[in-house]
Amino acid sequence: MKKLNVIKLKHRKNTENSATVSLPLPAEVTIPMSMHMGAPCTPLVKVGDIVKVGQKIGESDAAFSVPVHSSVSGTVKAVGEYRSVMGAVSKTIVIEPDGRQEVSEEVKPPIITDKESFIRAVRESGSCGLGGAGFPTHIKMSTKSEIDTLVVNGAECEPYITADYREMIERPDDVIGGINMVKDMLGIKHTKLAIEANKPEAIRNFTELAANDDTIDIVTLPSAYPQGAEKVIIYNSTGRIVNEGTLPADVGVIVMNVSTVAFLYRYSKDGMPLVTRRLTVDGDAVGEPKNVLAPIGTHFRDVMEFCKVDIEAVKKVIAGGPMMGMSIPDIDMPVVKTSNALLAFKSYEARKATSCIRCGRCVKVCPLGLMPAEIDKAYRIKDIEDLKRLKVNLCMNCGSCTYACPANRNLAETNQLAKALLPRK
Ligand code: SF4
Ligand code: SF4
Repeated sequence: MKKLNVIKLKHRKNTENSATVSLPLPAEVTIPMSMHMGAPCTPLVKVGDIVKVGQKIGESDAAFSVPVHSSVSGTVKAVGEYRSVMGAVSKTIVIEPDGRQEVSEEVKPPIITDKESFIRAVRESGSCGLGGAGFPTHIKMSTKSEIDTLVVNGAECEPYITADYREMIERPDDVIGGINMVKDMLGIKHTKLAIEANKPEAIRNFTELAANDDTIDIVTLPSAYPQGAEKVIIYNSTGRIVNEGTLPADVGVIVMNVSTVAFLYRYSKDGMPLVTRRLTVDGDAVGEPKNVLAPIGTHFRDVMEFCKVDIEAVKKVIAGGPMMGMSIPDIDMPVVKTSNALLAFKSYEARKATSCIRCGRCVKVCPLGLMPAEIDKAYRIKDIEDLKRLKVNLCMNCGSCTYACPANRNLAETNQLAKALLPRK
């Protein structure tokens, strides 16, 4: 089997042994109507309304969307505008918690009898990919293609992040329960639970738990980046290639994040939709790095204060990992469904980009065999035809090229800007 290009990074999994700690209830939560890929929701509540935990507060008619639920009980203080780190604008609902955390009457275990009711329940849960991409889970499951393999992504290949690892260590039965539920409901025969080799305890536990189940394989992936990228994990765990213009379903595969699978299992039992998020808080400005379970909508500032971040000394805050995460301009932005990490650094210095020296390292590390230096050149002269020829649309923004470039060129970011120039299909 041909090997895909990968890079070796320092793991920096400093919080791998920190059991998840629940964040105290914040004074305010700000819940955006768009935390997923697809259409934003419309608020279902107005200023002054009393809401409860798990109550649906945002919905959309669009199929490619998921509802939004309240993470607290309290009073709606404002309905405003929100701009995500990616620049997407949606409405947002600001709620003042009453401290009682009363659960909504809407929260009931879903009635699941067949594939259709299962997919409906998955949508109602508000689930979107918890690995960071935010793709609506029910859309992935609604494929008409025949799926024979479920790939469960437990790679967590970015440095620092241990949120999925803690899910695997703390809630392994939920992971196995979720796998069995998805398999049964969608009629999938095999599962590959793919975990990087730097998580031996998780590999050992799941090997034991699945010892008598020949439908679940535990796949140990080499510790390398970007092992968790969708096309990479499919190839490395099944040998199948997702070609340009095709989807994983076209090769008989669905990929789900390990925390998403575990969440769906819990939802099937108690009906509590996606209202909390486990995130890793780390970086050299963090006094107490840890994994935190936060109500969705908690401001990053509250999370930082809880983890003893020296806020005055912070020079850079990243939502997500250091490779694919985004710098956040404002620490009063909220934790959203896709927030798997918050990294705060005080030693950060911006690197000055210099001219390309044509060393070819960016090409050598790209898992998809793209030519980032050429894309960079085509982007600067806005040569759309050349950008198409260079297949910039395939770039998955893994950041390996930027990391490898000795001239400090921000190639991954350029690729995203270049993609935006292409005509939309
Ligand atoms: S960011 Fe894009 S071009 Fe750069 S290595 Fe990753 S996939 Fe390749
Ligand atoms: S890695 Fe940087 S310097 Fe080397 S070819 Fe690519 S863009 Fe140029």
